[in-house]
Parts: sequence; structure tokens; C-alpha cells
Amino acid sequence: MSQEKKYLTTASGTPVGDNQNSITAGHRGPTLIQDVHLLEKLAHFNRERVPERVVHAKGAGAHGYFEVTNDISKYTKADFLSEVGKTTPMFIRFSTVAGELGSADTVRDPRGFAVKFYTDEGNYDLVGNNTPVFFIRDAIKFPDFIHTQKRNPQTHLKDKNAVWDFWSLSPESLHQITILHSDRGIPATHRHQNGYGSHTFKWVNKDGEAFYIKYHFKTDQGIKNLDPKVADELAGTNPDYHIEDLFNAIEEDNFPSWTLKVQIMPEADALNYRYDPFDVTKVWSHDDYPLIEVGKMVLDRNPENYFAEVEQAAFSPGNFVPGIEASPDKMLQGRLYAYSDAHRYRVGTNHETLPINRAKSSVNNYQRDGQMRHDGNNGSAPNYEPNSFSDAPKETPENKINPFDVSGFADSVPYDHDDHYSQPRSLFRDVMNDEERERLIQNFADHMSAVTREGIVERQLEHFYKVHPELAEGIAAKLGVEVPAHVKE
Ligand code: NDP
Repeated sequence: MSQEKKYLTTASGTPVGDNQNSITAGHRGPTLIQDVHLLEKLAHFNRERVPERVVHAKGAGAHGYFEVTNDISKYTKADFLSEVGKTTPMFIRFSTVAGELGSADTVRDPRGFAVKFYTDEGNYDLVGNNTPVFFIRDAIKFPDFIHTQKRNPQTHLKDKNAVWDFWSLSPESLHQITILHSDRGIPATHRHQNGYGSHTFKWVNKDGEAFYIKYHFKTDQGIKNLDPKVADELAGTNPDYHIEDLFNAIEEDNFPSWTLKVQIMPEADALNYRYDPFDVTKVWSHDDYPLIEVGKMVLDRNPENYFAEVEQAAFSPGNFVPGIEASPDKMLQGRLYAYSDAHRYRVGTNHETLPINRAKSSVNNYQRDGQMRHDGNNGSAPNYEPNSFSDAPKETPENKINPFDVSGFADSVPYDHDDHYSQPRSLFRDVMNDEERERLIQNFADHMSAVTREGIVERQLEHFYKVHPELAEGIAAKLGVEVPAHVKE
């Protein structure tokens, strides 16, 4: 049989003679169990889906490259950032957060902005969002928070009472919900939004000096957002609007790009900064820590196969490279565990060996076996360490983490500050113009108008009042309620 003309086979490579008719006992007889092609086809079909991501289920992905445009080597020894002009292949996945795999793209929701850099020293994953902050600041609250964003256990409907019950009892969410209900809550496309690392990370240079870092990907397409009415309409007529836009832009060689900038805080400043720099509900003022350019990210290639690349892409905030490390941010610390754990569950123990996830540099370790091992299983013995084989992988002490000081009693320790108000106030009062403020108030009122459970609206208005009286009064007026009198005292 000629190999040039592709012939249909079973999964084990046996040529298939008939793919239209099952093997039956005559014309009207039952199907025979010996039709192994049919059995395999049906069984594989049943297993086509891996479990959907619990969050960030709906997404779009693209390949591209990152190029360094500014010398920042005095701040980090990360090889892929080491010299101007150095390029690194990367893959990005954009996503909504709360909806299921088939949900609409144009909803009000944060957008995932997850970048995998395939560096010469292993993969660096920067798993961020299109917002510089997050709803909560301790990972212990994450499952509860997400339950409120998902479906009610009884009705299987989205539940605004749960959403606002949780937010009103978690005022650290105020900054993020102000951004979420602003114009930027519904980006026009994936191309027209910024990306942020959100957490604080640590950079370490060749001399062992440490700096804290915030990442900002600024869209070169400019920020554009959707009018909520247009977005609602699109959700019905073209729920895949954002996936389609990104794919078509790249297909038409209209390659989207972002300029990566960082804020850099010397390690010693962290003790005295006016905000806790590890609290992910806070930004660092640009005045205090101006943006410094690092490079450009360009998306120039669409995936060949959505499932193989976008659905199986597995990002982890714990995938660091030498020169980039974690900070003590409690949300980040939780994510260091949770992301890889999710991938081990939904894609499998060996998800890092799939082509989309595999490092382009060599991977050498003593891990063996596990489901779907397909890459030679790390070769022959030894499968232990220490060992006396000179050509076996050995640790590299120069890549140990940068040591840092910790002290204190182990306890369930709350944050030592509760200023949930000054940064959303600054956004509302100083950054937004009159029209933006008006739309923010309208968006909040529209969302809260479905809240029926007693006490929630009043509690939330109290928080809004502390952000800015005009914000609370504006929302209350649109809801036809009063800001509780005791709040104004
Ligand atoms: P700046 O005036 O220097 O920065 C304001 C920032 O707000 C700009 O980066 C701008 O982005 C961004 N922005 C504008 N509209 C919105 C919106 N609807 N949602 C989210 N971001 C928006 O001031 P400061 O650094 O002193 O920060 C003031 C407030 O701005 C903060 O409290 C925070 O709420 C918000 N902000 C600050 C960021 C930071 O890292 N400092 C980042 C993003 C928001 P652009 O450049 O694209 O116009």
C-alpha cells in the first residue's frame, strides 16, 4: 500500500476497509462486537473532552515572539532578558474567567492573559489578567469566591445575590470590581487590552541583588472597549467574537503586539512602601515607580489545532527561570501550587511533555512513568540521585533561590492594613472623566439591580460611600434606594 496517499487507519495503524457501515449480521441483523473499528471510534469519541478548566474555560491562543528592546540586565540575570535584540518564542492564551467553554466572549469579566516564554533556560509562565489587581488577596478565599461567580447549586443559574453577598463581605474586592465595572470590563477584542502580571514578583541580578517587579503589557493597538448593549447583542449573535477576531487578525498578517514594561522596587523599599507591595488588591503608583520598558511581544502565528495547543496549554505561575522568583504575595503563593495541580488532574501527570508545553531547552530529571508517558521516559538508568554517573543530570548551585529573611510566629495572620478604599477612589476621582464615572455608576446599578437578599445592597453602598460619596449616591439613586444614614455620619 502506498504511503504517499493517506489511508484511513485505526489508532493502532491498521487500514480501515469501511468507515460508513458497521459490521452487522446481514441487512437487518444486530451489530457484531467484532467491529473493533466501530468500538474504538465510539469509545474514543466518549473520551474526547478533558475536564473543562474550572476557571478560564473559554479562551483563544496564539504563537509569537518576545524581543528585548531595553537593557535591564542590571535588575535580572534571566537569560531571555539578557540583551537588547534577543528574541524568545512564546505562546499566549486569552480567556474569560467565569463562563463555561461555550460561553460568550463579550461578557463583563476579567480576561486571563497567560504568556509562556520558551526560554533557553526552560519555560517562564507569566499567568496574569487584563487587570492590575485581583478581587481577593489570600488564596484561601479563592474557591468560595469562584463559587459565587459560577452557578447556584439549586437553580443552576448565575446568582447575583451570591456575587454581591461575597463582595460586600470582602471589601478588598472594591478596587477590582471598580475596574471590572468600568469601560475596561468588556474589552473590544483580545488585541485591545493591556495585560498585567498583577502579583509582585522578584527579580535577581548576577550579583544576587533582589528587586520587586510589577509587569505591564501595554497594547500597541490602543485600549478599546465595547458598549454593554453592543456586547450583549454580540453575545447572542456571535458568542465567539473575540476568538474569531484574534484568529482573523493574525491570518491577515495584522499581527497584534504589546510593549512590556515593568515597575521596579528595590528590595529594601518593600518594608516602608505606603502600600503592602505583596497585596494583590493594590497597584504601585506610577509616580512612585515609573514604568520601564523591557521589550515587545508580537503574535504572528495561529495554532494549527485548537485542542492540541489552546485547550492543552498548561500555564503555571510556578514556572520560573533563574533570575525570576516568587514574592510572598499570598495569592501568588496559593497559585504556585494550584495551577500545576489543576493540569495534573485535567491533562495528566505528564502534561509538561506535550508539544505545546514542552520546554524548547532540554529537560533532564529523575521523574519517571505516569500515564501517557510518550517521550522515552527520560531514558535509561540511573533513575535516582545522588548517583556516581558522570553524565547523569546534576544540580547547579548557582541556580539556588535568592535567600531571604523570614521571621514571626506561624499563625493564620490577617493583613495588617484595611485600606480598601484609597486606590479605587483614585481611579474614580482622578483617572476617570465625568462620562466614565457616569457609565461606571450605571454598570454597577445594572448589575446590582438583581440583588434581592436583604442587607446586601446596603452593606455594599457603605463600602462605595467610603470610596467616594458620589459613587454611592449615584448608584443608590439609580437603584431607587437611600445610602444608609449611619454611613454618612
Ligand atoms: P496614573 O494616572 O499614573 O495611572 C492610571 C492608570 O489607570 C493608567 O495606567 C491607565 O491606563 C489606567 N486606567 C485608566 N482607566 C482605567 C480603567 N477604567 N480601569 C483600569 N485602569 C485604568 O495613576 P497612579 O499610578 O497613581 O494610579 C491611580 C489609579 O489608577 C490606581 O489607584 C488604579 O486604580 C489605577 N491604575 C493604576 C495602575 C498602576 O499600575 N499604577 C495600573 C492600572 C490602573 P492607560 O495607561 O492604559 O491609559
